[in-house]
Amino acid sequence: MKRAIVLGAGGFIGSHLVRRLKDEGYWVRGVDLKRPEFSPSAADDFVVADLRESASWESILDVPFAEAYQLAADMGGAGYIFTGENDSHVMHNSAMINLHMADFGVRRKVGKVFYSSSACMYPAYNQEDPKNPKCGEATAYPAAPDSEYGWEKLFSERLYLAFSRNHGLNVRVARFHNIFGPEGTWQGGREKAPAALCRKVAEQTDGGEIEIWGDGEQTRSFLYIDECIEAVRRLMKSEFPGPVNIGSEEMVTINQMAAMIMEIAGKNLGIKHVPGPTGVRGRNSDNALIRAKLGWEPAFRLQQGLARTYRWIEQQVDAAKVAKAKAELVVADTNSYQQSPSADRLAS
Ligand code: NAD
Repeated sequence: MKRAIVLGAGGFIGSHLVRRLKDEGYWVRGVDLKRPEFSPSAADDFVVADLRESASWESILDVPFAEAYQLAADMGGAGYIFTGENDSHVMHNSAMINLHMADFGVRRKVGKVFYSSSACMYPAYNQEDPKNPKCGEATAYPAAPDSEYGWEKLFSERLYLAFSRNHGLNVRVARFHNIFGPEGTWQGGREKAPAALCRKVAEQTDGGEIEIWGDGEQTRSFLYIDECIEAVRRLMKSEFPGPVNIGSEEMVTINQMAAMIMEIAGKNLGIKHVPGPTGVRGRNSDNALIRAKLGWEPAFRLQQGLARTYRWIEQQVDAAKVAKAKAELVVADTNSYQQSPSADRLAS
């Protein structure tokens, strides 16, 4: 049985990937600072560990692994990455993890290492026209990512490729473009646009209003989680090291995506545009290289992925409302008990 290790297995993409590897018959070890939030991990062995620490790597790579999937990173949506407040953490934490992965990958003879880079490494100057952003793999230089998150991704891509050239580490590097789906972060400040918009729509009653950061005319493309995992597996099975885009070419404005979600929800809501971090003006995956090298392209339309994601987030919102109402009932009961004459008698 082939052994795989998934770093970041407690996160969104990692937990889905573990499930897929199990379905394919792998023995899987998952590692993360935390267990998956929404359902138990499918991993055979789950280690809670801090991957910034070399001691963690000493113990988790105690047996030979055919494949390692390095997904662990300090990351989040625009509200986490573009405010500047988390820059030093994002760079330091993720770089530490990748430095260890590359080094231990060679020392412990890991068969193949997958690294999840991001479209955020592309230069900002090619993403100013929302109708015509350029994100072909060959457009990465001169480098000018618009966030420290993007700079760290670019550094780590180069780190893995350098370890490949100098130490024979067998690497596969992919640049993910906005992956979304059920069991992704949907609240708390690290959620991304599709999840945030699904939550806002689910929380509103028909005729209400939701807020969107900026004018909503910034463009993006979004890839459904199952499609992302399929592309990752194809890349790992191929001889092509990358870097290669894994994304969708179905570009929409944020306003258009909000309209799609409202239609799925069957709600007619107003949009209030408010100031907020928005990132580059336009971004879209360019899939020419992955089509040529792996013969892959997404099968799902954005609307299908959003429909599945909306239903899941709606359930989370409803469950959170029930839990809040129950908690308020307990507080009200406790207060009325403490104020009742019988409670006074018992206390005295
Ligand atoms: P996620 O935040 O859900 O998962 C990342 C996981 O890494 C988290 O569970 C976190 O606890 C873990 N982690 C962070 N620091 C750690 C540490 N010191 N030790 C151990 N674990 C640690 O993110 P995701 O959406 O699943 O993304 C996975 C990877 O794909 C990341 O590297 C991310 O940068 C990259 N990526 C994701 C997207 C996307 O749209 N989701 C887009 C581009 C790139």
